[in-house]
Amino acid sequence: MLSLLSQHQNQLPVGEVWLVGAGPGDPELISVRGLRLIRQADVVVHDRLVAAELIDERRKDALCIDVGKRPGHHPVPQQEIEHMLISHARAGKSVVRLKGGDPFIFGRGGEEMLALRAAGIRTHVVPGITAASACAASAGFPLTQRHTANNVCLTTAHHCDERDTSNWSSLAGDSSRTLVFYMGLSALGRIRNNLVQHGMNADTPCALIENGSKRQQRTVYCSLRQIADLAAQHKLQTPCLLVVGNVVSLAEEYQNQNRAVSAA
Ligand code: SAH
Repeated sequence: MLSLLSQHQNQLPVGEVWLVGAGPGDPELISVRGLRLIRQADVVVHDRLVAAELIDERRKDALCIDVGKRPGHHPVPQQEIEHMLISHARAGKSVVRLKGGDPFIFGRGGEEMLALRAAGIRTHVVPGITAASACAASAGFPLTQRHTANNVCLTTAHHCDERDTSNWSSLAGDSSRTLVFYMGLSALGRIRNNLVQHGMNADTPCALIENGSKRQQRTVYCSLRQIADLAAQHKLQTPCLLVVGNVVSLAEEYQNQNRAVSAA
């Protein structure tokens, strides 16, 4: 790894932006390229969910901007972030925009890429390990599995304009599909009701994964019927991912839990 990194010690081209996926929270889950770019950039603009250890890898003279919070605890508005990236690039800096997970999965990386492109700024994207992959890995089940799940859907029940545009009958109608809900914690009751009303079995195995991949990860295995009650009972907090589907039953802990319930 070290020799891989040292092959690229030259300076970054200036006036360009790299949208870098920082991975799900465990700092070791960033790509080699992502880490090299953090170490080289003039400016690092990062989100709230990015591991502090990764931000500490920046050059000591690099400008570091946390857009996840600012005085009053409100995140910097998206348009302001885009202006910030554009103005630093125009000022001749190499800019790393460090985002949680993968920049192109519910990360607004697409919006940033389009804004940068419209401003004529050369933009590169470095993929990251998204929460779905990381949470499934650390919760002990695959997202697809021969004979159990032949497709997977990454979706959200969080709609910024308040209109629910999800196609619930499609989401509920395929028991060979794994559903992964990002930003779903505050909508668990609604997710359960919609899926069950559209025909999904309320006994479908589910996992709620808080802080996936981090030391403080907590995982709750349950049925679709129980998701809202158990999340409240365990006081689950964001970041939390909901996975719905038969693959969850392949987790050892899910099986142990069910064995304990049937023996009781
Ligand atoms: N671009 C990110 C997702 C950003 S949306 C990615 O690819 O992972 C933010 C949502 O992602 C959170 O509300 C949560 O649902 C999920 N998430 C991100 N990191 C997580 C983690 N470590 N554990 C559980 N869920 C996570």
